[in-house]
Amino acid sequence: MLNIVLFGPPGAGKGTQSQKLIEKYNLIHLSTGDLLRSEIAAGSELGLKAKSLMDSGLLVPDEVVIGMIANKVKEHTHASGFIFDGFPRTVPQAQSLDKLLQDNGTEITAMLALKVDDEELTKRLLLRGQTSGRPDDQNEELIRKRVQEYNTKTTPVADFYAGQGKFFAVDGIGEIDEIFDQLCQHIDSLKQ
Ligand code: AMP
Repeated sequence: MLNIVLFGPPGAGKGTQSQKLIEKYNLIHLSTGDLLRSEIAAGSELGLKAKSLMDSGLLVPDEVVIGMIANKVKEHTHASGFIFDGFPRTVPQAQSLDKLLQDNGTEITAMLALKVDDEELTKRLLLRGQTSGRPDDQNEELIRKRVQEYNTKTTPVADFYAGQGKFFAVDGIGEIDEIFDQLCQHIDSLKQ
């Protein structure tokens, strides 16, 4: 199996690149942000609990996202692989994911990180907010909070995978197709 963690701050282009990668490598896309927004849209209890945290730019509890991912991985036991987008965002989430994949006889192949500076991120997210309808994209203060959550809680996840020799970084500023090619080069070198 090819299991990729697509890593990077909010607005780095993870969603865009995920769409291209799932097509090329026939992978299942698992985005915890999308799964949480579906729960909110469905008005579920989980969605209601997550909404206030998401609207404040804060992370939802680890056990909530781990549970959602575990269910989805179990639903797709015959998949050729997964792209994890927006997950894991904390070291305990990364540890749980390792355990979950191990129990399913597989493992993370690589973490691919999209590098984008804070100024560019704010610009991109405010622009996305004009069309995405996402309340967390429409307020500069909230965007800063999300980037701050990323810098404090999520950055250590890169060290976690670097410690396993699985961390690769790519410049996330430039043409979408050029960034995609660089991601593919890393993946193809790992598949050989
Ligand atoms: P995203 O669509 O990935 O930018 O996520 C939107 C929001 O959902 C985040 O700001 C968090 O509040 C929440 N969220 C998404 N994924 C996670 C995760 N892995 N751990 C905790 N909170 C998450």
